[in-house]
Amino acid sequence: MSPRVADVERALSNWLRAIWGFTPIPGADAQPMVGPTLTTDFGVLRPRATTGLRHMRREEMDSELRDREGFSLPALDYSEPPAGSDRRAFMVRSAMATAIAVLGGQVNPLLAQTPANAQPVKLDPNLNVVKQSKGPVMTLVDEFYKVGPGPSSSHTIGPMRITYDFYQRAIKLPQAQLDQATALKVHLYGSLSATGKGHGTERAALAGLIGYEPATIDPVAVLDKMQAEPDKVYPVKLGTKTINASLKDIIYDETKGDFPHANTMTAKLMAGDKVLLEQEYYSVGGGFIEWKGYTPPKKNPPKYPYETMADIIAFTKRDNISIAQLAMANETSISGRSEAEINAFLDKIIGAMRATVKTGLAAPTSTLPGPIKLKTKAGDVYKSAMAEQLLARKGIGLVSAAALAGSEENARGHLVITAPTGGSAGVMPAVLYSLDSAGAKVSDQKLREGLLAGAVIGYLCKHHATLAAAEGGCQAEIGVASAMGAAMIGQAMDAPPQVIANAAEGALEHHLGMTCDPVAGFVQIPCIERCAFGAVKSWTGYLIAKNEIPANRRVDFDSTVQALAITAKEMNSKYKETSEGGLAVSLTLC
Ligand code: SF4
Repeated sequence: MSPRVADVERALSNWLRAIWGFTPIPGADAQPMVGPTLTTDFGVLRPRATTGLRHMRREEMDSELRDREGFSLPALDYSEPPAGSDRRAFMVRSAMATAIAVLGGQVNPLLAQTPANAQPVKLDPNLNVVKQSKGPVMTLVDEFYKVGPGPSSSHTIGPMRITYDFYQRAIKLPQAQLDQATALKVHLYGSLSATGKGHGTERAALAGLIGYEPATIDPVAVLDKMQAEPDKVYPVKLGTKTINASLKDIIYDETKGDFPHANTMTAKLMAGDKVLLEQEYYSVGGGFIEWKGYTPPKKNPPKYPYETMADIIAFTKRDNISIAQLAMANETSISGRSEAEINAFLDKIIGAMRATVKTGLAAPTSTLPGPIKLKTKAGDVYKSAMAEQLLARKGIGLVSAAALAGSEENARGHLVITAPTGGSAGVMPAVLYSLDSAGAKVSDQKLREGLLAGAVIGYLCKHHATLAAAEGGCQAEIGVASAMGAAMIGQAMDAPPQVIANAAEGALEHHLGMTCDPVAGFVQIPCIERCAFGAVKSWTGYLIAKNEIPANRRVDFDSTVQALAITAKEMNSKYKETSEGGLAVSLTLC
């Protein structure tokens, strides 16, 4: 219940009198404070009668406040007053608004979030990110969270989906044409060619060609076996005709050129030198695929047609709903599926995330595949965290261990969940783990809601910027994952939408500019530890956001997504999953 304005004025008056020695609000006499109590994570925050405080010196008061864990004075806005206004009136008004927020436990609705730079940055209309930003977000949760083999959504899951798609198209050709077929050929270009070897792209592409799908493949039985037997030939059924395919049919082609997308590939069905069927594809990040002439599938209109976080906040305020409720309403309206069906899908993702952490933590310390000879460490970090007495260290250790576990599973090529990508596949499972029975012990329903809120953050980043490291560097992978994690925590803790937006903003902001430079093209260094840092930053983003007055945050989520898009566009291509810069060249492997 919000306090009456008179109580607020009196409370503010007492504070200001105690701090500055005068009461700037006319008619508000200092009286013992009888304001409301606020329940915080640290206990009950109860404003005290100020008669004692009034006679304290400032140093005494500071030390007294330091002793009271969890108590904080309201943050006053000391920024410059708007031109033409009176400075003192501005400060009093600012302090008043802040006191209302602190005492009332909610933000003064008269205050709107004001980005520090209110002038929108002019973007080149030819930028892909600008073209993509037309219209409401239409992405669905089952397109976004995908289960598939690691180590990379764009270099493993995407290529496997592409070749599986091509196989499906090929078998629809008339049998007379299929009878002429002699071979299937796949050409990899750009980043797929530059770093595909380290990502197992050729095995993923071959698996799709011979009929395996990412969500149902057994990576150990199929992909690991392909690696162990590189010369093995696999039969591919084309109606009544059978041809052979092998890893030799996956060709690492040009790494540099004017490709439509940094992750371009072509698939061909050949009859000798003659092409029976050819299709150009793009693995556009997060396991999403497109092809030449692609048009998005027709979907129903969303109940909440949002394009930005500002739209989302406005809808949630208008209808008094959470971000998760908004997301669920859109899932049902766009897809035509029921809430129960969507929840069943979310439960599968929760189960898969739990499994990846559990398997990764239980795996004995081993050497990961590839030339780096990197040792795994999730299990060791977990054991050490469990033995830790200090709760803060234990918490950070467990989140880090869970993220390492998920990421090491990804590096092993085992099944992971794109959230939003394979390289960042340790972040969201670790956040989920920290909210689950090992941590905050929230209910499964809260985990579902958290996944929905996290997805909304990913959708917006995909809509306006990119999820592909080949387009935007690691800020687009771990940065987005960390922001999704922050939103998930906020939603699972029932934080208001603006706090969730701010938490995600903070987590994304502090990954801006982060480059992608996987050593030797393997998703191991810096990727594995980077997931742990991303998951911890999810919590940092949430903890900062929940402890500040939401409207006081000077950077809004939409501005930060725009910064992500601009930084992605301007980032040197050496740092976009090519292994031509940064750690990939500074680290000497011996
Ligand atoms: S450096 Fe980041 S973006 Fe690049 S492969 Fe690793 S996790 Fe993915």
